[in-house]
Amino acid sequence: MVSEAKEHDSCISEIDSIRRIGKMAVDLGLVVGSGGNISILLPEEQAFVITGTGTQLDNLDQDSFAKVALDGEILSNGVKPSSEFRVHLAAYQSRPDISVCIHLHPQKSVLLAALGLEVKFLTIDHVYYLRKVSSIPWIQSGTKEIADAVFRELKSSNVIILENHGCVVVGSGPEIAFSRALNLEEAADLTLQSRLVGIEPNPVPPAYWAYLEEKGL
Ligand SMILES: [Zn+2]
Repeated sequence: MVSEAKEHDSCISEIDSIRRIGKMAVDLGLVVGSGGNISILLPEEQAFVITGTGTQLDNLDQDSFAKVALDGEILSNGVKPSSEFRVHLAAYQSRPDISVCIHLHPQKSVLLAALGLEVKFLTIDHVYYLRKVSSIPWIQSGTKEIADAVFRELKSSNVIILENHGCVVVGSGPEIAFSRALNLEEAADLTLQSRLVGIEPNPVPPAYWAYLEEKGL
């Protein structure tokens, strides 16, 4: 395992940011430790590092990661990438502008989709971070089919609900990608609460959407 640690010496800061996100995601109940997977791009190496299969997101260390080339070749010795690595590979192939891909199991987002309800954007942060929430009907995990579906949806969205399963969020960096996951679950929570009280909530006014467009944000 010494060689593994050395192999990841060049990307310690990237791995640290994934470890931070993994811990927060579990602490905030967005996934159970073994359920999700997170990756970060290493642009100079034309590769990404991803949490290994069987790792716990709230207990990641330097040996918890595998490296996968953007052509799909698994580069790490010893650590097997998450079984969902094809989804992450598809994300980077679909979106050259992103550097982080996060897959979690946020319960309220999944519940909302299972109820056939759309996530409503009730705060300006929901609009800013989410813009659009796509949804993919259930497909078996780990398959080329789910990777292909994610590849297609990411062309027009940064936030995807995998129905009866979880979500995939992407971003140009760790903070914005994780903020998307947080805001997805918060928006789903508030949407569910508004259904429970039986009152249609006022959405964020079009003026804020226009402001973002005008500012190029
Ligand atoms: Zn999953």
